[in-house]
Amino acid sequence: MKLTFLGATGTVTGSKYLLNIETKSGDEKRILIDCGLFQGLKQLRLRNWDTLPINPKDIHTVILTHAHIDHSGYLPLFVKNGFSGKVYCTEATRDLCEVLLLDSAYLQEEEAKYANKRGFSKHLPALPLYTQEDAQKAITLLTAVGYEQDIDLGDGITTRLSPSGHILGSAFVHIQNSKTSILFSGDIGRPHDILMKAPVRIKQADYLVLESTYGNRLHDKTDPKIRLAEIINQTVNRKGVVVIPVFAVGRAQELLYYIHLLKASGAIENNTPVYLNSPMAVDATAIFNHYRGEHRLTPEESHALCHTAIMVNGIEESKRLNETNGPMIILSASGMATGGRVVHHLKAFAPNPKNTILFVGFQAAGTRGAAMLDGAESIKIHGQYVPVHADVKYLPNLSAHADYAEILDWLDGFESPPKTTFITHGEPTASDAMRLHIEEKLHWKTMVPDYLQTVDLN
Ligand SMILES: [Zn+2]
Repeated sequence: MKLTFLGATGTVTGSKYLLNIETKSGDEKRILIDCGLFQGLKQLRLRNWDTLPINPKDIHTVILTHAHIDHSGYLPLFVKNGFSGKVYCTEATRDLCEVLLLDSAYLQEEEAKYANKRGFSKHLPALPLYTQEDAQKAITLLTAVGYEQDIDLGDGITTRLSPSGHILGSAFVHIQNSKTSILFSGDIGRPHDILMKAPVRIKQADYLVLESTYGNRLHDKTDPKIRLAEIINQTVNRKGVVVIPVFAVGRAQELLYYIHLLKASGAIENNTPVYLNSPMAVDATAIFNHYRGEHRLTPEESHALCHTAIMVNGIEESKRLNETNGPMIILSASGMATGGRVVHHLKAFAPNPKNTILFVGFQAAGTRGAAMLDGAESIKIHGQYVPVHADVKYLPNLSAHADYAEILDWLDGFESPPKTTFITHGEPTASDAMRLHIEEKLHWKTMVPDYLQTVDLN
């Protein structure tokens, strides 16, 4: 086996790992694990336009760890460029990908259209990376499989997906042939998440590709509800608007559930209107409700979560919110304010000091979210500078990623150390810190690979 890192090196985005497996007949089987889009810094986003070192036509199979765009969003382009094999994933990942990939394509088309209308793109005409038609083709290749089933990929190679607790449908991807096995962690969830069940313990793998988003951090242990109630109450007292940029899948549902609990306990005003303004998050919430056995909530709790917010679908309804006075709470995507409807809300609400912009998740370098948390006095939206006078806050301890202590604890479940643990999916300082933690605590052999690096697995 050979493993090539086509993304998620020195960054948390663009996850793509290529496995070349020599078969008994002397041929080669090529499997891609995750097919994610680069996001964040411009130099990273530009990589989405680069030609891959491998022709997608030559890949036999793709396997997805989960539906988040930084793990699945390159798929439409991959299919447009010739890939025609199966894309294995869990059922919930398939359903979520249908929503996310179409939305991603729509956003790319809108961005290109907007750039052409305003003439602020350096490329004329600006083209989308892929279209909704491309996304539709990719969706037809999604092949749902159950958790913990051995799937035959041919030539003596099998794969198995195990629950990783990160978001609905997320999985550890195990691949093996008669000689070697490798486990891709994808994104690892947390043992005590309010919605998702704990990641399953894995006992064995010859090689491990491990995420390290929080390789250098420990999550705050305080109950996020207390801080959330404080922030909402302060803003509501000022008759302001709380704008919460959320990831449509996972974080949106988690926030809705917290807001439901706060309203139910009287910690925040029960009559403050809450809007979920993201068709994608609305769909993801319905999917969450559908797969009840895969998360911790009872049917009653799940139902309450779905009815906490007024669901906003139409564009006109969304625009009207920008002309509505507070107090109100708006949850809108995208979570790092890189695109989507939340950007229009920032334009409308960031200039007013009455309002609060509340970030509730990891903000990758180069995103508007990271800039605002860094104290930026203005942010660039659609070619214009928008002043930031609103209160910018961050709600810690809501991560869907294990911190380094939780990862070390999960690694403790291995009965013997992998031959090498490849540390990926982190900013450089986080990946390096994770490497040191593993070496110090477990004495395992580790490696932080470079972009496009290939390693032999024997
Ligand atoms: Zn993820």
